[in-house]
Amino acid sequence: MSRPKDKTQLEPQKVEREAAAPSQTDGNASSPSKLDPYESMLSRFYKAADALGISADEREILSKPAEIHIAHLPVAMDDGSVRVFESYRIIHSRVLGPGKGGIRYAPKVNMREVMALAAWMTWKCAVVNIPYGGAKGGISCDPKKMSVGELERLTRAYTRAMAEVFGPDKDIPAPDMGTSAREMAWIVDEYSRLNKGNFIPAVVTGKPLELGGSKGRVEATGRGVTMVTLQALQRMGKRPEGLSAAVQGFGNVGSITARYLSQHGIRVVAISDTTGGYYNENGILIHQAIQHRDKNGGLLEGFKGGERISNEELLTLPVDILVPAATEDQITPANAPHIKAWLIVEGANGPTTADADPILNERGITVIPDILANAGGVIVSYYEWVQNRRGHYYTEAEVQERADNTIRQAFDEVFARAVSQKVSLREAAYLIAVERVVRALRMHGRY
Ligand code: NAD
Repeated sequence: MSRPKDKTQLEPQKVEREAAAPSQTDGNASSPSKLDPYESMLSRFYKAADALGISADEREILSKPAEIHIAHLPVAMDDGSVRVFESYRIIHSRVLGPGKGGIRYAPKVNMREVMALAAWMTWKCAVVNIPYGGAKGGISCDPKKMSVGELERLTRAYTRAMAEVFGPDKDIPAPDMGTSAREMAWIVDEYSRLNKGNFIPAVVTGKPLELGGSKGRVEATGRGVTMVTLQALQRMGKRPEGLSAAVQGFGNVGSITARYLSQHGIRVVAISDTTGGYYNENGILIHQAIQHRDKNGGLLEGFKGGERISNEELLTLPVDILVPAATEDQITPANAPHIKAWLIVEGANGPTTADADPILNERGITVIPDILANAGGVIVSYYEWVQNRRGHYYTEAEVQERADNTIRQAFDEVFARAVSQKVSLREAAYLIAVERVVRALRMHGRY
């Protein structure tokens, strides 16, 4: 493959490794961008829409969520009080298939965030070519401060409120931040009860294996992040061994990505979560960090495998690869000028604000965009749903082979488009995704 020219951001050599150190005030990852996550999504969508020349009507349809469902959920708390939780399920699009997307439990969940996450699911499913639309759910709550019983009652209340929204051919939730297979099991149980006791596992993915989950689902997103990282390195003529990486977020995506990267010889020198991070220039022993996290409920103080650093410091460390795998809006115009990695792989959804894109592009930093990089999870979710509907289950090796091939093919398509159109990988991914959705939209017919 010939080397891409100027604006493709696929040349690591260009990055200014001596970028000025951030000052106390300007290097803060929490410095607000001017854009909220939905505006960041829209700005990238409009850019692709302009380049593709889609009609004003199509632009209008796809710039708005198809459905917004809001429910206030009264839940009996352990202390005898009743608390009311605000919850959302937002379907951005069902043009390519049933809505698909996770459910987030976090204190700051809000409608604009869920709108953005739902739209990113539309573009993600389209870019990896699986037959789903985009959706997302969220409940504003702090799961770390709730008992298992309270979480179960909350999840069942949410399922009852969204019973008409969910469905194996309509809208299929999955885990996201703050939720896991446990919550999916409660949803299957409640949803099946509401449907006259018919067992309907295909209503959610990311379930426990015992209830029709798929082998390989827990690791799927981190595995996909690693796959695309290795593919990008190969295209750049670099071997993984000896490269260094920093991973922000140490939950499902971050910790599993860190584990896979280190298995491929990449030195993961920094990790972090909401409680702060750790740095060790010789590489952090990821299995020890995972043990420490599982024992303490977070990275917290007391891990002996590295020295303490903040999340802000992690983002601007002198590493080769940066994997933001925590939450939105971490790479902003405030810290983008100080990032020293030459490859950013977006494990999280929306970790880079749209107004930071041009800064990273100018600086020659290659970004593997979220809608491609973290698609491994929804790809295995798709295979989980296929298995549920066939009543036939694959081995782990079969799931991994299918999922690896799907994400590799998507990477190759995005890369080829970036090279041929001389655009960034993010722009190429949006061009492919928007084009696929618009083509299907036209086939649905006129409104
Ligand atoms: P998780 O709840 O398992 O872990 C989230 C981690 O990020 C935790 O370690 C948390 O402490 C940390 N975190 C949250 N906010 C932070 C901040 N401001 N700074 C530093 N650390 C912070 O969630 P997850 O499933 O790993 O999801 C992480 C990201 O990946 C989210 O953006 C999610 O939407 C995205 N994602 C998840 C999946 C999946 O299959 N789980 C798939 C695709 C994308």
